[in-house]
Parts: sequence; C-alpha cells; structure tokens
Amino acid sequence: MRLSKYFVPTLKEVPNDAVVISHILMLRTGMVRMLSAGIYSFLPLGYRVMRKVSEIIREEMDAIGGQEFHLPALNPKEIWEETGRVEAFGDTMFHLKNREYVLAPTHEEIMTYHARNVVKSYKDMPQIWYQIQTKFRNESRPRSGVIRGRQFLMKDAYSFDISWEGLDKSYELHDSAYRKIFDRCGLKYFVVGASSGAMGGTGSEEFMVKSAAGEDTVAYCESCGYAANVEVATSRIDSVERDIESKSIYEISTPNVHSIDELCKFLKIEETQCAKSRIYVHNEKPILILMLGNDEVNETKLEKVLGGNVRPAHPEELKDISGADAGSIGPVGFSGRIIADNRLKDANNMFSGANKNDYHIGGIDFKRDVPAIEYADFRTVKSGEGCPRCEKHLEVFPSIELGHIFKLGTKYSDSMKALFTDEKGEEHPIIMGSYGIGVERVMACYIEQNHDANGIVWNKLLAPFQVHLLGLNLKKQEIVDACEKIYNDLNKQGIEVLFDDRDVTAGFKFNDADLLGMPIQVVIGEKKLKENKCEVKVRKTGERFDVELSELMSKVKELLG
Ligand code: ATP
Ligand code: MG
Repeated sequence: MRLSKYFVPTLKEVPNDAVVISHILMLRTGMVRMLSAGIYSFLPLGYRVMRKVSEIIREEMDAIGGQEFHLPALNPKEIWEETGRVEAFGDTMFHLKNREYVLAPTHEEIMTYHARNVVKSYKDMPQIWYQIQTKFRNESRPRSGVIRGRQFLMKDAYSFDISWEGLDKSYELHDSAYRKIFDRCGLKYFVVGASSGAMGGTGSEEFMVKSAAGEDTVAYCESCGYAANVEVATSRIDSVERDIESKSIYEISTPNVHSIDELCKFLKIEETQCAKSRIYVHNEKPILILMLGNDEVNETKLEKVLGGNVRPAHPEELKDISGADAGSIGPVGFSGRIIADNRLKDANNMFSGANKNDYHIGGIDFKRDVPAIEYADFRTVKSGEGCPRCEKHLEVFPSIELGHIFKLGTKYSDSMKALFTDEKGEEHPIIMGSYGIGVERVMACYIEQNHDANGIVWNKLLAPFQVHLLGLNLKKQEIVDACEKIYNDLNKQGIEVLFDDRDVTAGFKFNDADLLGMPIQVVIGEKKLKENKCEVKVRKTGERFDVELSELMSKVKELLG
C-alpha cells in the first residue's frame, strides 16, 4: 500500500475528551473516527487490525470445533420476551421506534431459538456455534473510545451439550482457546473468578487486563495468579488482638473530632484501636456497621451479607437513628442491629463514638459491652495486603474485561423450551454455555500495553503492515527505483508493506512511522544507497542497523520470524 494514496488521516492533536491512551493513539493514527458518542467508524488502517484480531479468534474457535454463524443484529422483540431479557436489559437495549424489533446486545436468545428448532436429539450434540458480529448496547456513559462503545464487534460463542460433564468440556475448550487467542494477540492478561467445578455449577471466568481505563477494580497477586474483583476479594490481614485485660468503659469529650485520623491524633492512639461506625438502612431498619480504623465498607459485600434493600443512611437521618451526627456514632447503646467487620472480632479496649455529638467512648469490650454484635467480612482489600492464597502480596488496580466464559446451564433452554430427547426418549433442556470476546477491546488493550511516547508498537500478528518502507528523498530517481523494487519484492513475498511515497520531509516520515508503529522500518536514503545499503529499524527496541540491499529480504524475514 502506498501511503500517498491510502486514507490514513493522522493527527497531532486530539480532542480533549480523549484521555485514555488507546483512544488517543487510535485517533492520532487515523485508525478510527467518532461518529457520535460511543459510535466509531473504523478507517482502513484500523479495520485491517480489526480483521487480524478477528482472524486469530476465528482460527482458534475453528480449532475447538466451532462453527461460524452470522446472525441478524435486528431481532424480533418476541424472542427476547421469551426469556424476560427485554426487561432485564432495560435501557441498555436499543428498540426500534415501531417497537417490533430490538437491536441485539448479545445473541443467547437467537442461538437458542435455532437450537430449539434443529438440535432435538442427544445425537445432535455437542455443538459449538459462534459468530463475530456487531452488538448494540445503549451504554449510559460511553467513554474510553472503542473500549465501551454503543456499537461494537463481539465474538460470541454458544455451546450445546447433553450433560453437565459435556458443558465442563466445552467450557474447558473455550478456556484454552481464549488463552491462545490472547497470547497470540500479545496481551498480558489475568483470569478472575474460578469455575465452580461442581456438577451443574454455573462457573464463569473473566479474562481481564490492567488498565487505567478499566471500570472494574481487581485485586491481583502476580505470584500465584489469585485475582478477584474487589467486590468479593479477600486478603490476609491481621485482626485486632484482644488485650488480656479489659478496661472499664469511659466517656471522653472530643470536641471537633470527626474522623478516625482526628481521633487518633487527639487521643494519641493507633488507628487499630478505633472502630469506625457507618449507619445503613436495611429493609427500612437502621443497621450499624463497624469497621476497624480507616478500613472501607464494601457495599457489594454488605449487600451480599444482608440481602434485600440496603442504602447508606442520609446525613439528616443519623441523629434520629443514633442520637448523634456522623463522627460521634458508636456501638455502645446503639439500638438496632450491629455488625462488625471480622477484623474487629471480640476486640476489647477499643474507641468509638458515644452516640452523643463531640463525645467518644474508650475501653469498649465488644464481648462485654455489645453482646448482640455480629461479625462478617465487609472490608475492601487494599494494595499491599497479603494474598489470601500465598505468602506474597496483592495489588489493587482498575481493569477491563476482554472476554468472558460462562456456564449458562439451562437458563435459556428452560425459558425457551429448547429440549432434546435422550437415549431413552426422555426430554431434557439443552445444557448451554456462552463465551464472549470484545474485538475492539482486544485492539485497544493491546495499544494500552504496547506503546511508547512516539506511538503504537505493533507486533507482527496484529500490525496492519509488517514493514514500513520510507523513501527519504523521492526527487532522486535512484531512490524511487530502489524503493519500487523493494516494495514489489516484499509484496511478491506476501509481506505486507506500507510505502511512504509522500513528498514530505524525512522528519515527518520518521515521526509517522513511529506513530503508526509497524514492526520493521526500512529506510532508503541517498548516502546508504550509494553503498547498496539501507537502514532497518526495529520499532519495538529502537535498534537500527545497516543492511545490504541484496540481503534485505532475508533480514526482514528473519526479523519477522
Ligand atoms: P462490561 O462489564 O465491561 O460492560 P459485559 O459484562 O457487559 O462487560 P459481556 O456481556 O460479557 O460484557 O460481553 C462480552 C465481551 O464483549 C466483553 O468481555 C467485552 O470484551 C465486550 N464488550 C462488552 N460491552 C462492550 C462495549 N460496550 N464496548 C465494547 N466491547 C464490549
Ligand atoms: Mg456491560
């Protein structure tokens, strides 16, 4: 491809709302342009990468026996009503004005519809059906460029089995295919969530990458691979040790002391001697949650423990509930349910609020003074805490989900009556799995992980072109001739080459070559050409060396492995 004729509108500056590095670089390299919030056009260079990622996915899906479909994105709404998912998706699902059709946000229903009509006997299974196709989701806050689009390309696969063991097998196949796909794409990823293993379990695993653009926060141990969303993550951390002797309880005047830090400073005590109070309203009833020191309540964990409806109490409700405002609330004398984080289990000689503004209580013994107290795990784990599985430490960071594998079981086959008959002629619901990968996310996450100050650093599998050929002074006929020969030779060898044949300065060409990031740059300049040489630069390492023109082809092949 000749750059002079190729539509690659590179940019020096990008709009202010592009803050995520992959978004910035995809705009700067002319891979994509935004059409509307969360809706992107892929321009020729970007689309080449999209096709390469899709092809890697396709190869690995075919290798596990997947059969490729192409389902319509425009779906009759009735099919989605069979599973109740029109309601479940709510505003995320796009509806056409006439209300008869929806734009598919995923395709469980449509695949199940086809399975129901054709997969009728145990002899028809197992099946793995997949497609690489556009999905529509009315994401409320599309941001981070193509990472969260309202229209995006997904590889979605569905497995159909006659038994739970069969599902386990299909799930394992996808697990291994996903690892191959992400490895080939050159992504550093980790896996969150473990399959339940148990028969009939609804195991699921998310393939994640660390990214500032991520909306999930994950605790990860690099050493043993423990990874969990902070909503469920635990850590190895000391709980408070009970002192041998319990002091008696006493009230302390603490004017203007509202936080744990202020309390520690005022009383010259440690954070680990303080129990912080938070009031929530659970099914209309107040509940006091106690945390050690500055530990944070994890509201997802809290909701799991309590069930039902939970919300933080409003500041104006606190005084009615406890007798004090935030900063002076505590367990002693609190009327209502009290649950403390496990780290506070049976602690004594603790400080907490007195349920009276500007007063605290010292010498609290939870066993003696708060006999009805319950304990549970509510805390949000923090970076540096011990890994719950090994002796190393956790790191907590934002992450993006690249892919998801999920044992659906009979959720869809039950509601849509997708049944098969077994050997004895008895009917059962088909046992299903579903497996998704976001194609744009693979591209964006690759860029997040593989760039430098000058631009993208493509690997050979995802690169739009393998070689970027730069002719420096194209007013010289000998340079034009040499470039044309190399360009033709590379093309003949099936090596994708982008030839910068534009009439622009050398500096401009070098900058664009680094920005666009093809793995190998071949530079044809006057001086070297006189010696029948050219310069080769490896984008990833920045390494440059001279190569005899006669050896160029074999050198390029060697570098591309
Ligand atoms: P998230 O939690 O990030 O919204 P999800 O749980 O909604 O993801 P799935 O429904 O499991 O995602 O979809 C499968 C894959 O599709 C995801 O792993 C992700 O790679 C991709 N994906 C999901 N939503 C989007 C989106 N709005 N834009 C781009 N890719 C997406
Ligand atoms: Mg989502």
